[in-house]
Amino acid sequence: SLLLSARDLRKTYGSTVALNGADLDVSAGEIVAVMGPSGSGKSTLMHCLAGIVRPDSGRVLYRDLDVTAASDSERSALRRGEFGFVFQFGQLVPELTCVENVALPLRMEGVKREEAERRAQSWLERLDVADMARKRPGRISGGQGQRVAVARALVTEPRVVFADEPTGALDSLNGEMVMRLFTHCAEEFGTAVVLVTHEPSVAAYSHREVVVRDGSIRTTAGTL
Ligand code: ADP
Ligand code: ADP
Repeated sequence: SLLLSARDLRKTYGSTVALNGADLDVSAGEIVAVMGPSGSGKSTLMHCLAGIVRPDSGRVLYRDLDVTAASDSERSALRRGEFGFVFQFGQLVPELTCVENVALPLRMEGVKREEAERRAQSWLERLDVADMARKRPGRISGGQGQRVAVARALVTEPRVVFADEPTGALDSLNGEMVMRLFTHCAEEFGTAVVLVTHEPSVAAYSHREVVVRDGSIRTTAGTL
């Protein structure tokens, strides 16, 4: 079933056209790899889909909700309740331990500390970073931090995961582990995954590849 649909998204920053009429549909259980050159609009597309950036025109629908017309509080509720994020930079809170970082989205939903940290710990185990639980992000490697960030994105069991180069800091084995975990969530829970990647080996795990060029979707391949 269709979860997200974007129609004719346009967004400019001053004289820079970031999105120039982008369309994309994402179904439940579908992993979509968004590829394309640097500066082509991939991040802006993801941010519009996720309700972080409002396009100048065009529309994003999430199920029955018009994300583009929703209020700030509706959009932040949507992001907290339905979406998970793995972004490249500044994702973990440096003052919190890794297990507290992963538990944070659950704590914001009102889950009690003990329960939230138990669930967080089990995701850290699945990503093979359980030993890092009591350390702060500054004390672990970039690759370990990226896996902690993936755990944090999945702990709330979101319907859609947005991931901007989620395997960029990982060696190939850990990259495969993350992609297998996304595949598992897609198959078991119907999680949709929208991921930006430059790596064909990562895109190979997707059901569909789309290429962004000059702010719009130029080619699509694959099936689901
Ligand atoms: P990609 O993710 O494919 O690298 P982006 O969506 O980040 O592309 O950027 C598309 C274009 O929009 C680029 O020229 C970028 O510099 C510009 N851009 C993106 N975000 C902003 C912003 N917040 N302010 C100004 N320009 C931006
Ligand atoms: P990516 O690797 O995805 O292309 P960027 O380094 O282009 O990432 O962008 C990182 C962040 O900076 C994004 O949130 C993007 O919106 C913002 N950004 C990109 N280009 C600009 C810009 N020219 N001015 C201000 N912010 C920008």
